[in-house]
Order: sequence, then structure tokens, then C-alpha cells
Amino acid sequence: MSKKVIITGVTGQFGSFMADHLLKNTDYEIHGMVRRLSVENHKNIKHLKTNPRFHLFSGDLTDGHSLQKSIEEIKPDYYINAGAQSFVSESWVTPVNTFITDSVAIIHILEAIRKIVPYCRFVNMGSSEQFGDVQYSPQDINHPFRSRSIYAAAKVASHQIVKVYRESYRLYAIQPISFNYEGIKPCEEFVTKKISKGVARIYYALKNNQPFDPIELGGYDSQRDWSDAEDVVDAAWRMLNQETYNDDIRYELSLEVVDKWKCLISNIKEYIVSSGETHKIREFVEMAFREAGITTGVWYKFSDKSEDEKFVDGRGGSPIYVQINSKFYRPAEVNLLCGDSTPIRQELGWQPQTSFKELVKKMVDYDIKNYSE
Ligand code: GDP
Repeated sequence: MSKKVIITGVTGQFGSFMADHLLKNTDYEIHGMVRRLSVENHKNIKHLKTNPRFHLFSGDLTDGHSLQKSIEEIKPDYYINAGAQSFVSESWVTPVNTFITDSVAIIHILEAIRKIVPYCRFVNMGSSEQFGDVQYSPQDINHPFRSRSIYAAAKVASHQIVKVYRESYRLYAIQPISFNYEGIKPCEEFVTKKISKGVARIYYALKNNQPFDPIELGGYDSQRDWSDAEDVVDAAWRMLNQETYNDDIRYELSLEVVDKWKCLISNIKEYIVSSGETHKIREFVEMAFREAGITTGVWYKFSDKSEDEKFVDGRGGSPIYVQINSKFYRPAEVNLLCGDSTPIRQELGWQPQTSFKELVKKMVDYDIKNYSE
């Protein structure tokens, strides 16, 4: 019988790439959880709907009943939680919802797993935002958690919850820490996609000799360690399979098997997933415009105030391509993130396939090709 995988957050960037990855590389059945919304958001999984190994079911991370019911009905071998309220700035606006979605939901899932399918392998995606106000760079798995947002605090809580369930009930439950990742799929809340889509808009305006509004950002100098979402999917799947065991373990209940399982759980590790390079937002801006063939951009300070620095056409100071709008400032900022992913590279053979430059190119090319107002 083919194994079953539940993916929550299957309509998002990570979840949909995970579904693609598993349909291509395994013979497993994929069950994706979707929320009923008045406007359907299935764009990222449309191409999978005719695949006989891909199924959708209705549920919601904020509804423990639906989470438990789906585990009872599907009895998954793997449970991949890629769903979250993952927008840092939104977490100050909806703090309680963020905490329920990103932390309380994890308790509901793990409670159901421990009661119904204790041999199911569970991953919840963690975030480098957990490191927050960083003390040293690059950050490794031992770096303390110093949250700077409600989102980060919720992810720290879920990290501890996953640890407690792993240690208390011997569940194969992990929360790896992924640094920022991006890809071609739509998600304009993140600065990278906002820039690549903005560049596509300006590209067509310039081509058609039309005026355009600048891209507006909340600053250019925070630094992030960006990876390609598909590389992060590969890393998560390796972590879920870092220890192999007799597949029949689920059906045996001998003491010997239980001992073997306990030993396996004590060996599993949570890893950092990162490119190991850090780049300022302004580098993303410069590279994105260059990839679109707009090579005239330069940074220009219209006054001494940092918010008056703009990315403009260097031939005359206008038009303005990028400027600051203070409405995008955050109550607290994480200035620098850079991850040390040496352990996953050495121990699980993970190697990112896409460089920062290739990622920017891929995003800009896609957004230019698929641009619509
Ligand atoms: P995060 O690292 O998960 O918060 O990913 P984001 O892409 O949302 O933000 C990355 C960095 O870009 C943060 O330091 C933001 O403050 C900064 N940033 C600057 N302008 C913007 C903007 O307009 N939108 C977003 N999302 N981030 C911005």
C-alpha cells in the first residue's frame, strides 16, 4: 500500500512545491488541506488536480476538530505542516490569530498524531525570524531565540512544543529552521516578490513609454539569507527521512521494535536550511532591475535623511524606480540574518541548486512573462 502524506498549506509556495516534489519522486498519495474561501486560491496547485495521487480535503489550522478528523480518516505516514500566518508585519495586526495558527495548531496536530498515528513523521517549518536580534553571524542551530515579532514568538513556541512532543512521546517530530526562501509562485507580501513584480510593472511602462509609480519599500538595508523554495523542500524531505527503519514498524508492537524506534528518535536532528550568503534588500533591487534590462538605476540621496534615498534613473534623477514609504516600517526590525547550514550539507548531503543571482533572475523573468495589471 502506498504511503500517505498530509500537506497543510498546500496552496502556498512551500506546500505546493512539496506536493510537486513528492508526486515526482515518490509513489505516495498526497492529501492537501485547503480552507474554504469565498475566493478560491488554488492557482499554485491547479496543475495537480487531475493527478490521481493528489487529493484535497477541507480543513483549517485554527480548527482542531478538522485537524484531528483528517488524521483519523487519512492515517498519514508523513505530516508536513507548511501552513502558517507567515507575514511578520501582519503578526502585529493579528497577534492572536498568528499565535493560534502558528502555535496552537501544532498542539492539535501533534495530539492527534500521538493518539492515532504515533509513527507518522511530522515536520513544522521553522523560521530564522526565531533568532531575531542576532548575537553572532552566521547563526547556527545553537543560536538563542531572541524574537522581534509576534510571528517569531509564535514560531519559538511551536519549536518548543515540537521538542516536548518528540521527547515526551518519542514522536518523529521536527521543526527545522529555514532562512528566507522564495520562488516564482505568487506571494506579494514578501519584499522579494514585491520587488520582482514591481520591476515587471516598470519594465512594461518603460517599454510602452508610459508614466509609472515607484516601488515603495520600508527600507533597503536589512540583510537576508535567501534560498530557492525548491531547495528548501528538498532539505525538509531529507530531514524527514534522515533515519531509515523497517517500514513494518508501524504494524509491530514488540518491545524490541519500540526500543529501536526510541533509539531512532533520539538520533534525529533539526537542521538549519540556508544559502549561507546574506544580501541587502538594495542588492536585490539592483540585481532585479538589471535582470530586466533596466541598467540605468542608481541610488541617489535627495537629502541627508535616510528615507530620502531613492533608486532612480541615473541619467537625470528621474523617473524614480524605488523609494521609501514609512507605512512599511515595522515596530521592530531584524537587521541581519545569515545561516550556517554546514551540518545539513555534511550530514544529509543537501546542496542548494539555485544561487542568489539565479533566484532573482528566475523571479524577474517569471513576473515579466506573466505580468498582468
Ligand atoms: P521576513 O524576513 O520574513 O520578514 O521577510 P520579508 O520579505 O517580509 O522582509 C524582509 C526584510 O525586508 C525585512 O527586514 C523588512 O522590514 C524589509 N522590507 C522593506 N520593505 C519591505 C516591504 O515593503 N515589504 C516587506 N515585506 N518587507 C520589507
